[in-house]
Amino acid sequence: MGFEVNSEAASIMKGLGFSINTKKIQRGVCNWGILPPKADACQECAVEHKPDEPHDKTSLYYQYYFRAKHGRWPTWEDAMAHCDDATKKSWREELARAGEIEETQNG
Ligand SMILES: [Zn+2]
Repeated sequence: MGFEVNSEAASIMKGLGFSINTKKIQRGVCNWGILPPKADACQECAVEHKPDEPHDKTSLYYQYYFRAKHGRWPTWEDAMAHCDDATKKSWREELARAGEIEETQNG
């Protein structure tokens, strides 16, 4: 059993060393525990969230997807880069409270 991936994801996954045969990643080869996004989930982090909410930085799929694309691991700022300022502000406050980011980070 394999799973369908779109062509962009296919090239990224290929770069990560997955064996892709006609755009299907073979489950036997994929033992990283990274699941592909469901159709109704965010296609970048594989987590179901609203488009205006940050990606899930803790999602392994997001981390490897981002690294394949940008050559480095994502930060929370990357995960919320597409959000509006109000969303960023409230997320930074929550993340700072949770000890995930520095309180002084203002972008
Ligand atoms: Zn996302």
